[in-house]
Formats: sequence, C-alpha cells, structure tokens
Amino acid sequence: MKKLEMMISNEFIQSKTQKYFDKVCPLTQDVQVQVPLCTNEEISDAIEKAHTAYLSWKDTPIMTRTRLMLRYQALIKENIDEIAKILSIEQGKTFDDAKGDIVRGYEVVEFACSAPTLMMGETVEHVSNKMNTYSYRQPLGVCAGITPFNFPAMIPLWMFPLAIVAGNAFILKPSEMVPNTTMKLAELFIEAGAPKDLLQVVHGQKDQVDALLDHPKVLAYSFVGSPAVGEYIYSRATANLKRAQAFVGAKNHMVVMPDANKENVLNALVGASMGAAGQRCMGISVALFVGSAREWIPELIAKLKEVKPGAWNDKDANYGPVMTKAAQNKIEGLIQSGVDEGATLLLDGRGATVEGYSNGNWVGPTVFTKVDVDMAIYKEEIFGPVLSILEPKNLSEALDIINNNMFGNGTSIFTASGASATRFRREVQVGQVGINLPIPVPLPFFSFTGWRGSFYGDLHAYGKQAITFYTETKTVTEKWFEDEESEGVAFDFKADHSK
Ligand code: NAD
Repeated sequence: MKKLEMMISNEFIQSKTQKYFDKVCPLTQDVQVQVPLCTNEEISDAIEKAHTAYLSWKDTPIMTRTRLMLRYQALIKENIDEIAKILSIEQGKTFDDAKGDIVRGYEVVEFACSAPTLMMGETVEHVSNKMNTYSYRQPLGVCAGITPFNFPAMIPLWMFPLAIVAGNAFILKPSEMVPNTTMKLAELFIEAGAPKDLLQVVHGQKDQVDALLDHPKVLAYSFVGSPAVGEYIYSRATANLKRAQAFVGAKNHMVVMPDANKENVLNALVGASMGAAGQRCMGISVALFVGSAREWIPELIAKLKEVKPGAWNDKDANYGPVMTKAAQNKIEGLIQSGVDEGATLLLDGRGATVEGYSNGNWVGPTVFTKVDVDMAIYKEEIFGPVLSILEPKNLSEALDIINNNMFGNGTSIFTASGASATRFRREVQVGQVGINLPIPVPLPFFSFTGWRGSFYGDLHAYGKQAITFYTETKTVTEKWFEDEESEGVAFDFKADHSK
C-alpha cells in the first residue's frame, strides 16, 4: 500500500514514523493511501527550515513574490482536470463539484496577485513640525494551516498563497481524509518556482497539530474544521500568545417569503441543501417557509425525490457519498433522533443504495417538517443531506429563530420585497447574507465573514483581512534637520495644544 510522503524542502520524502492512518475510499472502504503521523522531530525540522526560508523571502522584492502567484494560478488552471480527479477519488464529490472547489481556490491565488496594492501602508506628511509618519506591513514569520476534508483544494488555497505572498513561510497540515489533493497543489507550487522550504506539508492528527501549536517559531494559525477542534486549537494557540483564526461549524437558514419566485426558491433549496451531500459549511440545512409559502413544501419534496447520490464519475449523480462510515452513522443516528423527538420525516434517506457500490457511505435526500428548535436535528450540525423545515408565521419569527441559533456562518432570504430583504439584511445576526441566492460565499476580494459560533477570532479568511492577519504593521515617525539645526533637551512628553 502506498505510503504518502511529506513535502519538505520542495522534495517528497517518506516520514520515519511507525504510525500511519489508513485512509479509505468513501465508495468502497478500500484503503487508498497510508497517511503518516509525522514525528515531532520532522515537524520541528520543517518549521526551522521554513523559518530560514522566510528570512530571505521577506527580503525578496514584492513583484517577484507576486509573479510566483501569477505562475501558480496559471498552473492550477492548466491542471484542473487532473486535480479534480484526484480530489473526487479521495473525497467522493462529483467531478464538476470538484472543479468548483478548485476554481474557488485559484480565485484566491488570483487575488494574491494584487499583493503590491494589498501590502501598502499609510502615510501622513507633516504630522508635526518637520515630522512625517508612515506605516508598512511586514510578514510575521512562519504561519500554519490546519484544514478540513470538505474542500480539499479551496481551503488550503484560502491560506498559504496569501500568507506567502505577504512574505511569510507556511506549514500546511491537510486533513488526513484528503491529503492527495494538497500534495498535488504543493507539487504545482514547486513547479511554479517556489523557493525551497517556503511551503512545507506535514501530515497527521491531534499530536501533530499539538506539535505545531507549541512550537515557538510558528506565529499564526489558520484553522477550518469542526467546532470542538476549532475551540481547542484557538484556545491553545492564543494561550501560547499566538495569533489564531478558526472557521468552524454552521447551521444555515434559508427564509422563504410568500412573495418569492417559487421556481427559484425550490431550485435553490434543492441544490443548496443536497449539493456535496450536505457537507458544505455554507450549505442550507434549515428552510424557514414563512406563512403561506408552506404550500410549496409538497413540490419541494417531489423535486428532492429526483435527487440521486452516486459515484464521482457518474454524470447523472447529483452528489457523492459522505466522507466516512462514522459520518454516515452519525447522520443516520441524528435522523432517528428526529423521529424519536417527534419531527415528521417526509423523506428518509437512510438505506440509500447505489448500483455497483454496495459499501459506499450513501445517505439519500432527507427532509423533516414540524421541527422544533429544541430538537437535536435542529441544534446540531448534521453535515449530511438532511433538510429541516420550520414554518414561522412572519419575518420577525424567522429572524428570532436564526438569531437564537448558536451558529452565524451564512443565511439567505428569498423575497420580491425590497423592504423585507432590507430588514433581513440589517437585523440578521449572521456574517454572510444572500438575497435571492442561497449560498453567499464572497469572492476573495471580500472576506469570508462567519460570525458567532461559526468563527473564533477577529480577522477573517482571504480579502484584505487575511493580509492584515498574516502581517504586522510597523509605524515609523521621522524628523529631518537642516544643517546646523538642533533642538534642546525635552523632559516633557511633547504635545502642542496652543492652537
Ligand atoms: P475536523 O475538525 O474533524 O478536522 C479538521 C482538521 O483538524 C483536520 O486537519 C484534522 O486532522 C484536525 N484535527 C481533528 N481532530 C483534532 C484534534 N483533536 N486536535 C487537533 N487537530 C485535530 O473537521 P472535518 O470533519 O474535517 O471538517 C468538517 C467541519 O468543518 C464541519 O464542522 C464544517 O462546518 C467545518 N467547516 C467550516 C468552514 C467554515 O468556513 N466555517 C468551512 C469548511 C468546513
């Protein structure tokens, strides 16, 4: 069985560990690759080398750093089919969905090509007599990223291109469920001309993440994953007095007003709730049918009955298997809890089968109505193709439901009323809002701005906020004297209040 390599000093090398994680195929349960749980020495060595690379990279002209990203984005585009195939085979998502994952990633690399503008500081001339003040953005040093299974290309690309173009070096620890996509992205980064040791890829689980968290030379951590792990990583990183940002779970609500365009509502809900088998942090898991909009529910169910899971290379498949058997069991357990707690199961995806893949982690489209906010299916992130429907009387009730949910990643409203949309946009306590579109993931010149229980930290992913996250601001105040000019000794803290 193939043992996965690490990527250290631009070379693919075997770990010396005795411990491996067997990564299995979500369609068959066959072991696809053995992922090394790297040793502490290997991780420490990767960090030390990255630190040395940073020392010369930070002094590399910004246009040279930018051109690396220009070449990199071109290479990702040229190789998109090959990357998408690797991604689909290890993750299970359909080929077209895998391409979308990659496109949303290379858009961040394209954004990284605006580094010279993004890195600009501020200047004020003549802040006091003969004094000027200006600021620079300077890189931190070595930064690290820990990524999840659901977007194997997009999420690593949220992180290292922006950190590196800003002048940092980066250690990436991909999800052990989908490490091959990251290795391909790393290979292309080398091909694009990345200097040695600037990006290092190590593998593992908790122990390896702990080694990253406790190393004094890693100064900032970007994490995307589940809430409990995010809380742990954010707490441990900040307890070590480091910078951290953690993007975690979600429960995204879509509000359907009775004045909305019915066809658009139903199509949007089908795709946004079932796409990627519901394994999207911005997917819709709760629909709020306001007032008479509830009359559309039977038509929604009819459409969802047509939705079929299948293998990544089956052109008729709408989505793939869920990532692991454990995830399938958890989803099925939550569906049972919904039944036990009294919700009405209109569509039951348990026991779904796909011809030729009897061992796949299949869950069919599942829909509950009569869902109560105290039920586990409402409170917990299911991360599967399961939609819960609630029926608030009006927009105020819908807003109350959303604003009392612990998560605040994404939400949307479908309506023909500008007044309803405006009220929703202003009052909803969620960081990313869609109006007549279901999954409002911002393009990279904005930032990915989850709120409340969906995010720990203050600076978000990509956009200008990411450049702020990956840099320090240095502010310089200068004063130049003419020849022979001098000032007396000042014992007081000088401030001129006379005018
Ligand atoms: P996960 O938390 O299980 O794993 C994420 C990463 O953390 C992996 O690299 C994993 O190896 C590592 N990890 C796991 N357990 C750890 C531990 N105890 N200590 C340290 N590191 C550990 O998440 P997942 O199942 O891969 O991803 C799904 C989750 O990610 C969902 O909750 C989803 O909502 C969330 N997600 C959030 C966003 C967002 O932007 N908010 C985006 C994508 C995914």
